Amino acid sequence: MIISEQQLAQVNDRIKALEASGSFYGKKLKEAGISNVSSPEDFTKLPFSEKKDLRDAYPLGLMTASEEDIVRIHSSSGTTGKPVIIPYTAKDVDDWAIMFKRCYEMAGITNMDRIHITPGYGLWTAGIGFQLGCEKLGAMAIPMGPGNTDKQLEMMMALKSTVLCSTSSYALLLAEEIKKRGIKDKIHLKKGVIGSERWSDKMRESIKNELGIELYDIYGLTEIYGPGIGINCPGETAMHYWDDYIYLEIIDPVTGENVPDGELGEIVITTLVKEGAPLIRYRTHDLSRIVPGECPCGCKHPRIDVIMGRTDDMMKIKGVNVFPSQIEEILGTFTEISSEYQIRISHLDGKDTMRIYVETNGSVDFNELSKRIAEKVKSKIGFTPIVKVVEIGVLPRSEKKTKRVIDERYD
Ligand code: ZN
Repeated sequence: MIISEQQLAQVNDRIKALEASGSFYGKKLKEAGISNVSSPEDFTKLPFSEKKDLRDAYPLGLMTASEEDIVRIHSSSGTTGKPVIIPYTAKDVDDWAIMFKRCYEMAGITNMDRIHITPGYGLWTAGIGFQLGCEKLGAMAIPMGPGNTDKQLEMMMALKSTVLCSTSSYALLLAEEIKKRGIKDKIHLKKGVIGSERWSDKMRESIKNELGIELYDIYGLTEIYGPGIGINCPGETAMHYWDDYIYLEIIDPVTGENVPDGELGEIVITTLVKEGAPLIRYRTHDLSRIVPGECPCGCKHPRIDVIMGRTDDMMKIKGVNVFPSQIEEILGTFTEISSEYQIRISHLDGKDTMRIYVETNGSVDFNELSKRIAEKVKSKIGFTPIVKVVEIGVLPRSEKKTKRVIDERYD
């Protein structure tokens, strides 16, 4: 996705505002002697912004509009270090609501729906974002917030909620609870709008089947408005994002260079019209890819694939960047193996080696299967792993998160 003339003009407006306000990014640009960008090449030379920059600006160093125009703040709760505070103007809040309304509309949700909102309200952007979009759409918001499953189900039945907004894990919990209590016929849900994170196809299928609803992935992050900057359309998994509000790049997380459309990399976002805290080339550390070509749904907004994980999971093997999700995706195409696998990376005789352990039952030729898997990895990722096929049940299972990638190079 090459940045358009109009988007460049919008970036230049943001640069002006950032420099005038003396925010961290404005200073960065001044030091680099940059006051505007005139071409896509210029744009890719702009420095990135990082979560650390945002933390360092605590509490209000990101504020780019004047105090009287700021109507609220939100904050992302970091597990470590200082939180990030994002100031919003009235226009920012309204823009966010417009984007969120679009998301609901994309999912076929109308002003006749009753939207059951379980994400949390407060400093973070989750619950209130779902609420904003719902009210903009004219649907009925049921602002539950998280927890208290008894109450959730009671309200869901009494108010005949038709749309569930939640995380994937809470949707699964509710689905299981509904099944356990035998109350499915009293539940009127038709759609689920699920905050986008990496969740397995298996989990998706369980929620879909138990609740009998259509599921939508909604994308966003507190630093960039919040949830609502993109969502998938009916029948497709890729998410459309609102390129009149954000410009999205996919970069190689190591070199920082843009990758060609279709290739996996890190999502980098520039806000085009945000006033309270504009961000230029913000590194999200989320992994995805641009889905090239037109969407069968006819919507002209560009698309990214479902989130494939975080850059922190990245492994570098024989000079190639590899993500566990890429290996998982390839293994998923082999029906003869189980969902369990293990990846071990070691450094032997001056060379990086990846061993992939997979499980199958005794009915297939282990050697032939391992060759086919190795060839597929080679063709898709660019190096040949050693594939070891073992009997089903041999790989370790865990009730918690199973550790599937073991890097022995640094032990
Ligand atoms: Zn579409």
